[in-house]
Amino acid sequence: MASQGVIFDIKKYAIHDGPGIRTTIFFKGCPMDCWWCHNPESQMKEPEPFNDSLKTNSLYLCENDGEIIGRNVSVKEVMKEIEKDIIFYEESNGGVSFSGGEPLMQKDFLNELLINCKKNGLHTTLDTAGCVSKEIILEIAPNVDLFLYDLKLMDDKKHQKYTGISNKELLENLLLLSEMKCNIIVRIPIIPTVNDSKEDIVDFGKFIQKLNIIRVDLLPYHSIGEEKYKKLKKVNRMKEIIPPSKERIEEIMKQLESFDLNVSIEV
Ligand code: SF4
Repeated sequence: MASQGVIFDIKKYAIHDGPGIRTTIFFKGCPMDCWWCHNPESQMKEPEPFNDSLKTNSLYLCENDGEIIGRNVSVKEVMKEIEKDIIFYEESNGGVSFSGGEPLMQKDFLNELLINCKKNGLHTTLDTAGCVSKEIILEIAPNVDLFLYDLKLMDDKKHQKYTGISNKELLENLLLLSEMKCNIIVRIPIIPTVNDSKEDIVDFGKFIQKLNIIRVDLLPYHSIGEEKYKKLKKVNRMKEIIPPSKERIEEIMKQLESFDLNVSIEV
């Protein structure tokens, strides 16, 4: 088992990454390259140059005076941070969330953290797009209390264009977790001109209605990642895209509800 991994942030008192008050660990590395990614600093697995320090209460953002993002950490070091806030998890029915990037890219490091959390009786949430083999999903699933499963596009050609990979394995893994009766919240980023047409939403609805899930969360596109693209010297392909209006998101919500789905909007 790996006892080291690469992360780029630890967010304390998080309230959007699962129930209650949580600590969220952000893993570095992602096999996808979503045009709208608001954490572009998560995509490369290794620590990388970052022109400036983001002003957050982050503990692990940079290791060299704001010039490098990401660092190698041990399971022991991360658990030490997690355990500092046990009292908040207990009082709020919260726990620990693993996000990224794609945490499953470092599956041994992730699994070791999950096992340690379970030993401490802590609720675990995994934010993933599921882009790994079925075997990895089967290995990890018993240690995850809640999956936040990202679904980007149903049309495979468009999925390949806008994320860099096929959605075949991702959809199969989601079906598998649903058959295993895991707790799942499906999260759909709503990206104008990419996946918000009437046809796109119908395709989502038809697929999701076959699943056993808690609910669907809609995540309206926002442009807050823009600055990060500059700092990483990366091209922002969504420059011209305007975030969807509240009315449009509500229309999409209604459209999905017509498939008998429980839908909410994450802001
Ligand atoms: S899956 Fe998430 S972290 Fe990876 S590129 Fe897409 S939006 Fe970014």
